[in-house]
Amino acid sequence: MKTYDQLRSHFLQTSYLNKTIALLDWDHETYLPSKGVAFRADQQAFLSGLSHERLISQQVGDWIEACESESGSLDPFQNANVSAWRRDRDRAVKLPTEFVESFEKECALAKAAWAEARRKSSFELFSNHLSKLVEMSRQKADYYGYQKNPYDALLDVYEPGCTSEDLSPVFSKLKEFIVKLLPEAMDVTRRISSDYLQGFYPLEGQKKFNEMVARAMGFDFEAGRIDATTHPFCTDLGPHDVRLTTRYNELDFTESFYSVLHEVGHGLYEQGFLPEHAGTPMSEAVSLGIHESQSRLWENKIGRDPAFWQDWYEKACECLPALKKWTPEDLTLAVNRVSPSFIRVEADEVTYDLHIILRFEMEKDLLSGDLKVEDVPAAWNERFRSMFGLEVPDDARGCLQDIHWSMGGFGYFPTYTLGNLNSAQLFSAAQSDLGTPAAVLQDGHYAEILAWLREKVHRHGRRYEPAELMQSATGQTTQPGYHARYLEHRFEVLKA
Ligand code: ZN
Repeated sequence: MKTYDQLRSHFLQTSYLNKTIALLDWDHETYLPSKGVAFRADQQAFLSGLSHERLISQQVGDWIEACESESGSLDPFQNANVSAWRRDRDRAVKLPTEFVESFEKECALAKAAWAEARRKSSFELFSNHLSKLVEMSRQKADYYGYQKNPYDALLDVYEPGCTSEDLSPVFSKLKEFIVKLLPEAMDVTRRISSDYLQGFYPLEGQKKFNEMVARAMGFDFEAGRIDATTHPFCTDLGPHDVRLTTRYNELDFTESFYSVLHEVGHGLYEQGFLPEHAGTPMSEAVSLGIHESQSRLWENKIGRDPAFWQDWYEKACECLPALKKWTPEDLTLAVNRVSPSFIRVEADEVTYDLHIILRFEMEKDLLSGDLKVEDVPAAWNERFRSMFGLEVPDDARGCLQDIHWSMGGFGYFPTYTLGNLNSAQLFSAAQSDLGTPAAVLQDGHYAEILAWLREKVHRHGRRYEPAELMQSATGQTTQPGYHARYLEHRFEVLKA
């Protein structure tokens, strides 16, 4: 057998293992009875260990080296796979096994402490765990290595090739823009209260409508399904098996509906990898910032456009008769309501990125040592006041609201904003390639936009770096101007 084929078959088998772990995880979040949790945690940890050993084995290192020396005889896809395997293995071997184990263990303890701290709104209960995780994350950055800033080593895990030096000017421009747009955007949706759409929306009607729209957008239900969970997510269990989850609230249909549109965006990306690349990096997402661009595109650029509710109003009313008391215009305005609020996951499209910028700045300061862990609540509240003009009432609605730090996920947050920026830029490029905005947004044209995304983004898997992918799809690397123009345009249209 040729060396490349040996390597490919090794990683295909590792993917059987990884997809099994993902299936156990999906089951954990959806159907696992509570008494089964302890065994499942051990089972998943054991399988993850096996997968890690398969990645760092010396044999794999030798095969990768051999493939690199005969790169001339491999095709571009094969070479792209070899580079991605090299990257994954190099990263994995940098961390000593004892460090990985103690980090995992600390995260498990920190997650439990964080959940209690958030429930009781008491930062003190989490403070020591956070100190430990900040210290270990700094150590992790040292193991990985970096040019200028330890934060970059952590960011690179989620967004290959991206540094805090790239992000800082982009984020400060964006912040300036949001502060300028905010009063006007709030004014446009002023007549809408936060409980404007409250009504009775039976579960069955919500499911029916969600699936109808998901199908129209191109989600293949013979290669995927939607189930209920507390925290919506999307996971890929293999070629032709993409699982989406959502949560239902019978008083507010938008909770499940917009989370389904969001996860459909992720799911379409996963369903768009070419089956012949199964088990290789060519059938994996290039970065979280690109993954998130897909979800934001379907959820926001399409799902919150005025054309959307014009198209879907009648079908929505058939599934959810309570909607009849509003017009499509009311619905559009309600789902675009802007108002600064404490919780990131409930934020509107204008203020969302301020939440991310705040976290990005805090994380950098924590990692550099400029911010001490015990000063986190005070620093959070002060920065929140200056950015949002609101007094944070308690830590649960302040620095304790997100799970990310308790999972050691420093460097993750910026990918949400990159997702917003990339989605506006990709959508703008798709619109100019496909025709006028109105035509792109209408019901029958979802197939065209999906085909465009398949061609420009999905089918490439991890073949390019995120910046190269954006360059080839849109002619530019990520620029904040597209997102700014998209938001300005949205509120101009709504005002009219
Ligand atoms: Zn997402």
